[in-house]
Amino acid sequence: MKFIRSKRIFTIILTLALTILCFAGIDTREAKAANKRSRYTICIDPGHQQYANSNKEPNGPGSSTMKMKVSGGTHGSKYPEYKVTLSVGKYLKKELERRGYNVVMTRTKNKVDISNKERAQYASKKGADIMVRLHCDGSESSSANGASVLCITSGNPYHSELYKKSNNLSQCVLSAYCDKTGISKRGTIYTDTMTGLNWCSVPSTLIEMGFMTNYSDDSYMNQKANRKTMAAGIADGIDDYFGF
Ligand SMILES: [Zn+2]
Repeated sequence: MKFIRSKRIFTIILTLALTILCFAGIDTREAKAANKRSRYTICIDPGHQQYANSNKEPNGPGSSTMKMKVSGGTHGSKYPEYKVTLSVGKYLKKELERRGYNVVMTRTKNKVDISNKERAQYASKKGADIMVRLHCDGSESSSANGASVLCITSGNPYHSELYKKSNNLSQCVLSAYCDKTGISKRGTIYTDTMTGLNWCSVPSTLIEMGFMTNYSDDSYMNQKANRKTMAAGIADGIDDYFGF
């Protein structure tokens, strides 16, 4: 009887010790990953701002093509694009910092006046390793739906050396985002017409998170809880890009 009791006590102590060791192991692994993530700085650019700026700026370094400094963006049933991009951007900052990354944002308010060129230059000025630009799509067709990414081409006249990394970042972010949110995956648009990508001297991507002109995408993006999921999906993609 005494023997059985002491055996039981021994088993309980052993189980407790193993549980503590197991959790300590997980904690150490997470701490190590967070420590590695702290080497990286992510620049988040929540697309657009309260008022568009129709003054022009060069489309890329040395380019004679001039484009609007910041366009107005699209609009959903409840919110303008600039509000949704800032909201997701703030959740994304929180999530990335929780995972251990350093984060800088091109804007934290809606009433700002920062051109696409200035946003791109902000990333390198702040020593960011990558730049993630957040946007929502709009279309005349209400059936158009899903998420896509915009990436420079391999022949980009300004930063072709960043194509491979930018493409990898684009694929990682789009896949993880669609997996997490269930929003359908449209694919990648390769273009050298985006001022905010052309001026960027670090790997960059622009994600169109869904269509504000589509009932299903718009309803999804209107919910705060879903915006946290959207941010978590993008953070997963950033983890994938860095190999965490
Ligand atoms: Zn936009």
